Amino acid sequence: MSNTSKAIKAIRGMNDILPSQTKVWQHLEAELRKTLANYGYKEIRMPIVEQTNLFARSIGASTDIIEKEMYTFDDRNGESLSLRPECTAGCVRAGIEHGLLYNQEQRLWYMGPLFRYERPQKGRYRQFHQMGAEVFGLAGPDIDAELILMTARIWKNLGIHHLLRLEINSLGNSQARQNYKDVLVNYFSANKKQLDEDSLRRLETNPLRILDSKNPAMQDLIEAAPRLIENLDEQSELHFKALCLRLDQAGIEYKVNSRLVRGLDYYNRTVFEWITDSLGSQGAVCGGGRYDGLVEQLGGKETTAVGFAIGIERLVLLMTEFTDNASFVNEIDVYLARMGEKAEIKALLLAEDLRNILPGLKILTHCGSGNFKKQLKKADKSGASLCLILGDDELAENNITVKFLREQREQIQLSIDDLSAWLNDYL
Ligand code: ATP
Ligand code: MG
Repeated sequence: MSNTSKAIKAIRGMNDILPSQTKVWQHLEAELRKTLANYGYKEIRMPIVEQTNLFARSIGASTDIIEKEMYTFDDRNGESLSLRPECTAGCVRAGIEHGLLYNQEQRLWYMGPLFRYERPQKGRYRQFHQMGAEVFGLAGPDIDAELILMTARIWKNLGIHHLLRLEINSLGNSQARQNYKDVLVNYFSANKKQLDEDSLRRLETNPLRILDSKNPAMQDLIEAAPRLIENLDEQSELHFKALCLRLDQAGIEYKVNSRLVRGLDYYNRTVFEWITDSLGSQGAVCGGGRYDGLVEQLGGKETTAVGFAIGIERLVLLMTEFTDNASFVNEIDVYLARMGEKAEIKALLLAEDLRNILPGLKILTHCGSGNFKKQLKKADKSGASLCLILGDDELAENNITVKFLREQREQIQLSIDDLSAWLNDYL
């Protein structure tokens, strides 16, 4: 039987972003771009597909992403490729490949789609978008602080800072982490009966990740576990104290959460997360940290690095559901209605003239049929603040009518010659 009449749907967890939503997206993206430019960061764009090896070697074999979330397939030549589940690995790969990293300072940012095979729910999708920043060649706590200040500024500019709180932690150097792993394995092994299936597995593969467990039944056990922050190496402790000092001086509030380990293997020293209580278990809006070993691990020369990534969908949800900051952007200023055949042609040309003279003007010209009432209805629905009405009679006298759609005011008639100057004043 033929199936041709059945409509094809989008893939589960991969969303269309519809015209009614793109306004918020554009506003957000513009704000992010602006802030990154304010701090002197430069954009980098990487491919969406990379060799599977890149992710396996950087993110860590026993992380959720590698174990169960990657979209992996064989290319036609048999090479294993994956859709990127995060962007740091690709950014480091590009940096090494093009000689951007060694002995240099780079402040970079990117924005784009990522893919993870997760259970789709509000704020968690299989295709989602991140804006991230990565800094190379700077080792001190000053740059860690700059990145956090930059994210704080972004929340402020978007009007969502009251919905977010900051948690920070330090994972120390690799020796401290190794020592701590042993301590943790001893602790959890002594309490094996209380571990769930996932944690039992992680006890063998990645004990730090047990601290990341969201299973309520294990929270007491995790809460009582020894803390890495109390067993840091001296340099990492100094680094962390210096970061805290800078945040204090900048008036940034934070909580030290010793259980914050982040889901990827490559972090060391500083890790941080901005969290909201408004999106249930999809509370992480931005995560970041230091990853001084990754460049070398991926075949480059030793280069310090630190960065963060923001989940755009979760920002969009916060903006649309908890603020009205997204509604003020006007997509249309002027709707141009016309009655009669001569007026139709004139309207087309007039709109062109207005766009030439007023480059910022957003003008929607009525097309197709429709009586006067219908055109006015469309004008109102467009969100425009003004409706210009051009009729054959008015045209004969070189006049145009201006109707005010968003304020109580009698319509007026203007000479077409005066229109652009008048619009410039009014808008
Ligand atoms: P979570 O704990 O919610 O799974 P994560 O630790 O896996 O988040 P990161 O890898 O740190 O997330 O990615 C950075 C940000 O990207 C997150 O803070 C979140 O805002 C966003 N994000 C991660 N996974 C998804 C997803 N599947 N859908 C939408 N946004 C996501
Ligand atoms: Mg995750």
